[in-house]
Amino acid sequence: MEIKRGIPVSPGIAIGEAFLLEAEGVRIPRHFISESQIESEVGRLEQAMAEARKELEDLSGHVTERAGSKIAEIFSAHADMLQDEYFRQEFLERIRDKKYTAEFAVSRTMRRWRKMFHDDPFLATRVADLDDLERRLLRRLLGARREELDSLSSDVILVAHDMSPSQTASVDQERVKGIAMDAGGPTGHTAIIASALGIPAVVGLGSVSDDLGGGDQIIVDGHRGLLIVDPDEETLESYRQRRSQAIETEMTLLEELRDLPAETIDGRRVEIMANIEFPREVTRAVEHGAEGIGLYRTEFLYLTSETAPTEQEHVEAYTEAMRQLDGRPIIIRTFDLGADKFVGESELAHEKNPFLGRRSIRYCLDHPEILREQLRAILRVSTLGEVKVMFPMVASTEELMTLRRLLNDLREEFDRAGESYDHEMEVGIMIEVPSAAVYADVLADYVDFFSIGTNDLIQYTLAIDRANEHVADMYQPLHPAVLRLIKMTVDAAHDKGIKVGLCGEMGSEIIYTILLLGLGIDSFSVAPPFVVPEIKKIIRTVKYDDAREMARRILQCTEVDRAMEQLMDFDRELLPVLFP
Ligand code: PEP
Ligand code: MG
Repeated sequence: MEIKRGIPVSPGIAIGEAFLLEAEGVRIPRHFISESQIESEVGRLEQAMAEARKELEDLSGHVTERAGSKIAEIFSAHADMLQDEYFRQEFLERIRDKKYTAEFAVSRTMRRWRKMFHDDPFLATRVADLDDLERRLLRRLLGARREELDSLSSDVILVAHDMSPSQTASVDQERVKGIAMDAGGPTGHTAIIASALGIPAVVGLGSVSDDLGGGDQIIVDGHRGLLIVDPDEETLESYRQRRSQAIETEMTLLEELRDLPAETIDGRRVEIMANIEFPREVTRAVEHGAEGIGLYRTEFLYLTSETAPTEQEHVEAYTEAMRQLDGRPIIIRTFDLGADKFVGESELAHEKNPFLGRRSIRYCLDHPEILREQLRAILRVSTLGEVKVMFPMVASTEELMTLRRLLNDLREEFDRAGESYDHEMEVGIMIEVPSAAVYADVLADYVDFFSIGTNDLIQYTLAIDRANEHVADMYQPLHPAVLRLIKMTVDAAHDKGIKVGLCGEMGSEIIYTILLLGLGIDSFSVAPPFVVPEIKKIIRTVKYDDAREMARRILQCTEVDRAMEQLMDFDRELLPVLFP
C-alpha cells in the first residue's frame, strides 16, 4: 500500500481500478488466468510481440523512404527493445509465476521499467518510448476487446497526467468514478468540472500517471487529497464505511433542509444558489435545494461546437435551463473564454501569458459580434423568467460603460423591431480582478449587483496560477489581502444599496461559510449540489452576530494558519457532524 498526497478539488471517495489515460489509453478487462491457460497466454504474448516487431520494422522502412534514416531510427530502436531478452523474460515470468494475463503482464512490467527509466538521468528521456511500446503491444493483445475511454464497460478511476476542461466534461459519468491527475491546481477549470459532475478528484499528484499501472486498485479521497495505491483490507474497509456514512449524512441533511431557507438564528437571510456549466445540471441543483442559478458558465456552449454558438443555440440552452428552474432566477454570465478554457487552435492559443491576455470580456469586446449574439439571446429569454446578465473580468469603468452601451443599443434594436424583453433585467459584474475590488465603490454606481469570483480574485491578487500544482500551497483564500478585498467589495456594494454574491469555489468550501456570512455576503453560488444543504445547515445553526464577530477576528489575523485554526475551532464547536 502506498499513500500519495495531492490537492483535493472535488469531494467524495472513489474506490476502483485505475484507467491510465495516457499510457495505454485502454482498459485491461481481465488480470488473472488459471494454471491451464498459461501456455496459451504465453503464445498470445509471443505472437503480439512478433507482430509488433514486424509492424515497427515495416514502419522504419517506410519512414526511411519518406523522412530519412534519422527519424526511422526511432522505430528500429523500438523494434530492438522488443527483441530484448530482459523484457521478454519479465513478461513471461509474470504470466508463468503470477498467472497474469498477457496484457496485465505487459502493463506491470512496463510500469516497473518506466519507474527505473525515470530515476535515471540518461534514460528519463526514453520513457515515451516505453509508453509507445506498451500501447502497441496492448493494441495487438486486446484487439476487438479493446475498450476506449468513451466506451467503458465497467467502472474505473481515471488517472492522467493532465486533462483539458473539454476532456473532463466529456467523460462518461456513469463509469468514471474518480479522477487522479499529476498536474492541476486548486481551482483550475478541470477541477471545477470534476466537481460539477460530482466525480471525486485529486490533482497535483506529481507522477502518478507514470507510477501506476492500468488495473491497479486505488482509492481517491477527494476530501483529504489522497490517492491510496493497492490499499490493504483494513484501509479498504474503513474507506467503504466512510463512503457509506458520508452518503447517509448527505441524505439526512438533504431531507431536513431542501425546502428550508438559509437563515441564521437571529434572522439574517442569505440566498443559496448553484453554479452550472450545462443546462442539464439544473435539476440536480434544484433537487438539492438551490434557490436558483447564481453562475451559468456559458462558455461551455463551445464544448459542442467549434464555432461561436448562434443566437438560436444560446436561446435553446437558456430556455432549457429555465424550464428546469421552473420560475427560479438565473444569472447568465457572458462568455469567459481564454486562459485555460476552450482556446484550441484559436488566436488566443498563441498568447504567451493567456491569464493576463485577451481573456474573457476583453476577447468579447474585441469580437463584439460574438457578444451581441449572446446578449440578444439573453434579452430574448428575459421574458421567460427572472434572468440577470453578468459580465466577467471587468477591470475598469470604461469597459463597463462600453458593455452597457452595447446592451442599450440592442435594447433599442428590440424596441424598434417591437420585440419584447424584460426592461428591468438586472445587470451585474463579477469582481475577480483586484482593480475591480479596490474600485468597487465606483463600479457599484453602474450595476445592479456584484458577484465575487474568488477563483480569479485569489489568483490575480496573490499572483498564483490557479491551475498550477507547483504553487498550489500559496493559493490561499485566507490571505489577509484577499479577505480585505472581499470586505471592501461587500462594504462598497452595501453602501450603494446593491447586493453582493460570491460564486468562486471558496463559497463551496464549508470551512469558509461562517467567515463569508460574517463578511456580509448576500448570496452564495456553489457546486457540487450536495453542499447546498450543508451550507444551509451551517447558516441555520449560527447567529449572524457571532459570524460577524468571527469575521472581524479573522480579518485581524496576519497569518493564514492562525486564521484557519480559529475558523476550524469555531466550526467544530458549532457542528461536529460536518467538521469531524
Ligand atoms: C471565479 O473566478 O471565481 C469564477 C467563479 O469564475 P471562473 O471560475 O469561471 O473563472
Ligand atoms: Mg473567473
